[in-house]
Amino acid sequence: AVILAIETSCDETSAAVIRGGKEILSNVVSSQIEIHERFGGVVPEIASRKHVESITLIIEQAVKESGLALKDISAIAVTQGPGLVGALLVGIVAAKSMAMALEIPLIGTHHIAGHIYANELVHDIVYPSLALVVSGGHTELVLLEREGVFQIIGRTRDDAVGEAYDKVARALRLPYPGGPHIDKLAAEAEEAISLPRAWLEADSFDFSFSGLKSAVLAVINQTRMKRLELNEAALARGFQESVTEVLVTKSLRAVRQYGVKQLLLCGGVAANRGLRAALTDHCASAEVSLLIPPNSLCTDNAAMIGAAAHLKLKRKQFSDLDLKGDPGLSLEQWSVSY
Ligand code: ATP
Ligand code: MG
Ligand code: FE
Repeated sequence: AVILAIETSCDETSAAVIRGGKEILSNVVSSQIEIHERFGGVVPEIASRKHVESITLIIEQAVKESGLALKDISAIAVTQGPGLVGALLVGIVAAKSMAMALEIPLIGTHHIAGHIYANELVHDIVYPSLALVVSGGHTELVLLEREGVFQIIGRTRDDAVGEAYDKVARALRLPYPGGPHIDKLAAEAEEAISLPRAWLEADSFDFSFSGLKSAVLAVINQTRMKRLELNEAALARGFQESVTEVLVTKSLRAVRQYGVKQLLLCGGVAANRGLRAALTDHCASAEVSLLIPPNSLCTDNAAMIGAAAHLKLKRKQFSDLDLKGDPGLSLEQWSVSY
C-alpha cells in the first residue's frame, strides 16, 4: 500500500510518498528556519502563512518525485497533533481535500509516533522496545509493548531538551535553532564547567531541565556582571554533559527495568553528537541495540508520518473526514487497537 503523508505541525512544510510503511519513494521538506531565525524562534502566524504558500507545490513535488500517479495512492496521512493549531490546519485541509477528491481513506497521525517510527524506515523495530524522544517540544521515554501501542513511562516536567538547548544558545547570543551550535562548542571545549543534574525521585523516569537552564543563565550573568571573560565552550560542554548523563542514565535504567533489547533514539536532538556517543557506549556495554535514524529523518519530515500512519492503514483504522487538528493530542490514545 502507498501512503501520501503531509506534515505541517511546526516550521517545516513536508510531503512524502511511502510504500509498505518502510520504503521512502519521496520525502520533500521545505524548512522555514531562515524566516524565523531573525525572531529567535518560530512565529506561529508566519508559520501558517508560509505553509499555505508552499503546501500545494510540496505535495505536487512529492508525488512527482515518487514516480507514481495519484491513482496509485491508497491513503492520505496527515499530522493531527501535537503542534501549532494554525499550522496543523493547513496540512489537514490539504489532506482532507485530497482524500475526498481521490476517494481514499484519511489517517490523522500523531507527530511523536512519527518521530518514533522514523526508525522503522531504516531499521526493524523489535518488541518490546523503548524510545527516547528528544525534540524541540518533547522529552519522553516511551515503552512499546507491541507494534503501535505507546506507553509514556517518563516525561519532562518543565522544558523539553531541545527547548533548553535553544534557550541556553540564545543567552550565549548564538543563532536559532541553537542546539547544533551548543553541540559544536561543546565538542571544541577543553574543559567543562560543572553544573547540576536533576535526578528527581530515585524511581522516576521523568525529567526536568529548567533548573539546569537557570544554573547556566546564572553563570552567564555572574561573569558578565563581574566583567570576566566567559569560557563559552566550557559552559556549553558542562550543559551538554549534564543533559546527556541524565538522559543516558534514565534510559538505561528503563531498558533494564522493562527488559527491552532495543533503544530507539528520535527527535531533532537525536542529532546531538555528545548524546549519540554516550548512548552508543552505554548501549554497547549493556548489550542493547541502539537505533538512530539519519539526521534527515530525525528532524520534522513527512516520511516519518507515513511510517506511523502505516500502522493504522494495516488495520484499516481510519479517521473521519471531519478530522480536526489537536495541539494536545495524546500519544497513548493514538495507539492502534488490537
Ligand atoms: P516536537 O517534535 O516536539 O513538536 P520540533 O518538531 O520543533 O518539536 P524537532 O524538529 O524534532 O523539534 O527538533 C528541533 C530541536 O532539535 C531544536 O530545539 C534544535 O535546537 C534541536 N537540535 C537539532 N540539532 C541538535 C544538536 N546537534 N544538538 C542539540 N540539539 C539539536
Ligand atoms: Mg522544526
Ligand atoms: Fe518534531
